[in-house]
Amino acid sequence: MKTYSSISEVQSDLYNNRLSCVELTKSYISRIHENKKLNAFLEVFEQSALEKAKEVDEKIKNKTAGKLAGLVIGLKDNICYKSHKVSASSKILDNFESLYSATVVERLLVEDAIIIGRLNCDEFAMGSSNENSSKGNVLNPHNTEYVPGGSSGGSAAAVAADLCLATLGTDTGGSIRQPASFCGVVGLKPSYGRVSRYGAIAYASSFDQIGPLTKNVDDAALITEIIAGNDEFDSTVSSKPVPEYSKELKSADKKKYKIAYLKDCVEANGLDSEIKKNIYQLIDKLKSEGHVVEPVDFPYLDYLVPTYYVLTTAEASSNLARFDGINFGYRSPNAFDLESTYKKSRTEGFGKEVKRRIMLGTFVLSAGYYDAYYSKAQRVRRLLQNKVNEIFTDYDFILSPTTPGTAFKFGQKGTDPIAMYLEDIFTVLANITGHPAISVPAGVHSNKMPFGVQFTAKPFAESDLFAIAKSI
Ligand code: GLN
Repeated sequence: MKTYSSISEVQSDLYNNRLSCVELTKSYISRIHENKKLNAFLEVFEQSALEKAKEVDEKIKNKTAGKLAGLVIGLKDNICYKSHKVSASSKILDNFESLYSATVVERLLVEDAIIIGRLNCDEFAMGSSNENSSKGNVLNPHNTEYVPGGSSGGSAAAVAADLCLATLGTDTGGSIRQPASFCGVVGLKPSYGRVSRYGAIAYASSFDQIGPLTKNVDDAALITEIIAGNDEFDSTVSSKPVPEYSKELKSADKKKYKIAYLKDCVEANGLDSEIKKNIYQLIDKLKSEGHVVEPVDFPYLDYLVPTYYVLTTAEASSNLARFDGINFGYRSPNAFDLESTYKKSRTEGFGKEVKRRIMLGTFVLSAGYYDAYYSKAQRVRRLLQNKVNEIFTDYDFILSPTTPGTAFKFGQKGTDPIAMYLEDIFTVLANITGHPAISVPAGVHSNKMPFGVQFTAKPFAESDLFAIAKSI
C-alpha cells in the first residue's frame, strides 16, 4: 500500500473509494510487525483498531464521519485508553489496565480517529533517549545505531517509520520536540492549559502537556484543535475558545512577524556547528521574506536545566508516591508486610532514573532544604517567566535550535546524567514558562541525521506557531 503523508491525503482516498479504513489499518499493522525491531510499539490494539476502522468506513458511507476519519494514530504509553493496558514503560505498571480514557483519547475517538496502539517511551517520561524504558530501547528509523530521542521516542520513531500517520506524546521538558527533532518530524508542545492532562500519567503536573507528533504542520494543527479546550476533569485547562487552527492555517495570509533569537542559545558552546550554521541561514531566509529577526540577550541559559530538574523532580516525587504496590500494577513477591510491600515493590518496580529523580525530588522538598532549593527554583521560574514575557512584548516568536546536536549513539551519554540533562537545554524553557513551542524539521546533518528548529510563541498563540512553522 502507498504511504500516506497527511490526513487530507488519506481522506481524499477514503472519500473517493480508493481506500477503506480497514485496509489502511491492516496495512499499518503489518508495517508495525515488519518493523518490530524498532521497538516503537509496545502493543498493537489490533481488535479495537479494526473495529473502529469498520465503524468509520460505515460512517464515511453514510457521510457522518468526524474530522479525523481515517487518522491512524498511536498513543504514548502514558496516555490512558479505557480497557487497554498502559504502563508508562515501567515495570511498576506492568499489566495495569486503564479504567477510563484520557480526555484527548475521548476527543480523538469522537472525531473518528483510529487508535492503533501504545508506544514505548522513557519510564514515566523521564529521559532524552528512550534508554530509560523498562521495555528496551527504541531505535531511530533513520539509523538504528542512534537513539530516537525521548521521552516520546516511540511516538517520534513510529511517525518517521510510517507505522502510523500521527502520534500523541507528552512534553514536560522537551519530550515531544526533542524526539521530533531527532526523527525528522513535527512536534508541538501546546501552551500550558491548552490541552487537558486528564488521563495522562503525571510526571510533573505544572509542566506536562500532551501534544501531537506528525509528518506535517497541517496535521498537527488539526489534531491540536480536536484535543484542545476546556475540560471539567482538569482544572488547569483554560476555557479560552479553541480556534479552528487547521482552517486558519489554510487561509493564513502571509503575515510578517517579529522574531527574536536568543544570542546566548545560538552562540552556546555546546551547539553543533552545522546546526548553528543552519540557524543563521534560516535567520537570513526569514529576513529575506520580510520578517524582522533580531538577537536578544538571555543571560539565564545556565539556570534553565537546574531549575527544571529541581522543580520537576519535586513534583515527580509527589506524583509517583501513588505507585506503592497496593493500588497499581506490580507488587513484589518478596514482600511480607505493609512496609516491605511499599519498599520492595517500589525498589523492584522503578528503574534507576526514576528512583534517582524521586530521591532528588524528596530531597529538595525536605524540611531543611526546601528554601534553599525548591522555593528558590520557584523564584527563578518566576524570573524566567518575566524575562520571556518581556521578550514577547516586542516579538511574536523566539527562535532557537531544538537540541544542541542531532541524535547520538546508544550509550554515548550513558553514565553521566548531567550530560543527558543538558540535552534539554533549549526545550525546557517553554515548559518552565508555559509557552507553546514547536519543533519543525530544519535540515539533515552530514552524519545523515535530521534535526529541527524550534519556535516558541506567546501563550495560546498556537495559530501563529502553526503559520510560521508551515512557512518554513
Ligand atoms: N528529557 C527531559 C527529562 O528527562 C524531558 C522529559 C519530558 O519532557 N517528559 O526530564
